[in-house]
Amino acid sequence: MAWGKIPKKKPEPQRIRLKKNDIVEVIAGKDKGKTGKILKVLRDKNQVVVEKINLIKRHTRPSPTTGQGGIVEKEAPLQVSKVMLVCPKCTKTSRFRLTVTADGKKARVCGKCKELIDG
Ligand SMILES: [Zn+2]
Repeated sequence: MAWGKIPKKKPEPQRIRLKKNDIVEVIAGKDKGKTGKILKVLRDKNQVVVEKINLIKRHTRPSPTTGQGGIVEKEAPLQVSKVMLVCPKCTKTSRFRLTVTADGKKARVCGKCKELIDG
């Protein structure tokens, strides 16, 4: 028996309020200032994949399946802390708060123009 071992706690997953197809602005890193659409949310890693952001080049060898080699650009995941949601109504990055709509659904509200983001 292994005594004295405290099981490692998994880091609490951050609550990601971002969704696929949200428009975000990059606030840190080499793509700072760029905006793009979220292609994928990796909830367990607190990461998002944003269209045309954080591109990495991949060299591929010619292979019998693809027929040709070359350089392929692919989006690499970004930490959610490096992006900010852009309000589709006022097109500004903003703090969002959650609200409950009249029909009981959760929706995000833009802190600047007070518009609901989720229809
Ligand atoms: Zn807004």
